Amino acid sequence: MGTKGTEIVGMDVEELLDLLNRAYSDEWLAYYQYWLGAKICKGPMKEAVITELEQHATEELGHALLLTGRIIQLGGTPITKPEDWYKWTNCGYDAPDDPFVKTLLEQNIKGEQCAIGVYKKLMDKTMNADPITYNIVLQIIQQEVEHEEDLQSLLEDFELMTRRK
Ligand code: FE
Ligand code: FE
Ligand code: MG
Repeated sequence: MGTKGTEIVGMDVEELLDLLNRAYSDEWLAYYQYWLGAKICKGPMKEAVITELEQHATEELGHALLLTGRIIQLGGTPITKPEDWYKWTNCGYDAPDDPFVKTLLEQNIKGEQCAIGVYKKLMDKTMNADPITYNIVLQIIQQEVEHEEDLQSLLEDFELMTRRK
């Protein structure tokens, strides 16, 4: 822990660490949901969908990395047991039990929309209190917004392609 670096945080550090660990749990669950979705995906346009799901999996893992770095910097402990991800998550986990591309896209859009809400709240909380965390959250939310749009545009293409007149 950086003592002075933690001292300048203008909010309750324990509360901030809790929020960061919640988001950290979300990111691991999102990573696995995307990673497995990309393996089992079936249906029209699956190549394009798989490419996007794989890219998003990698990016969610990158978000977990950014969050764990900040948690440790602030003297916290990142969640150590995967079973606790379930207890801490904001957005939960939607098992990709149905491999159909449309179902996977819809599940992951729901996840991204939840993530955008979570990071918007974290931005509001940290904007003035902790610019360092704010900067990290800003980087993450930029990608979550991109993720939502990527998936919605794939879903739109899917709907156009499979439209019956
Ligand atoms: Fe993420
Ligand atoms: Fe995302
Ligand atoms: Mg993408």
